[in-house]
Amino acid sequence: MISFNKIFNEVVKNISRFPGIGKRSAERIAFSILKMKPAIVEEIAQSIKDLNKKIKPCRLCNNFSTKEVCSICSDSRRKEDVVCVVEEPTDIMAIEKTSQYKGLYYVLLGSISPLEGVNEESLNIGKLVNRVKKGEIKEVIISTDPDTEGELTAQYVIQKLSRYKVKIYRIAIGVPLGTKIEYIDSATLGEALTKRQPIG
Ligand SMILES: [Zn+2]
Repeated sequence: MISFNKIFNEVVKNISRFPGIGKRSAERIAFSILKMKPAIVEEIAQSIKDLNKKIKPCRLCNNFSTKEVCSICSDSRRKEDVVCVVEEPTDIMAIEKTSQYKGLYYVLLGSISPLEGVNEESLNIGKLVNRVKKGEIKEVIISTDPDTEGELTAQYVIQKLSRYKVKIYRIAIGVPLGTKIEYIDSATLGEALTKRQPIG
């Protein structure tokens, strides 16, 4: 017969896969699952499956979406020729909270990080370059994190786009160095977008 330890450790191993969850935290979560009603456990498991199955990257901008094209890309009230480039979909949520931005987005799904072995090739930039090449985009605002990886990534995006006829901006003023876009308060981030800096 399969032992308690074996079942329990399997759950701890799986919960430890989440970012920021160490073995101790995973054990605490596993113990709390033991005390839950089966219906609640089922609900948790189902919602995780739904998230994984029903949410896909938007075909145009890589934002999370339940449809092929996300709600922002398909919103006709937004400026189609202005694109804000961010590292992660969570950055879109942060910028949307400022209510200062009415253009579209493009999510790189990461940043260049030599320490973690993430190089330029693994960055998801092809679709953006194509749209700029076709002249669909007049203005690009690079809003990658103001840390080392974000700066490297910004430089790479600039290098890829500067040969085309497009205005490139980098958010700068008011954004503290070494932080992440998603942790910056709305007022600061809103001002940083308003006072974006032209590149070149
Ligand atoms: Zn989209």
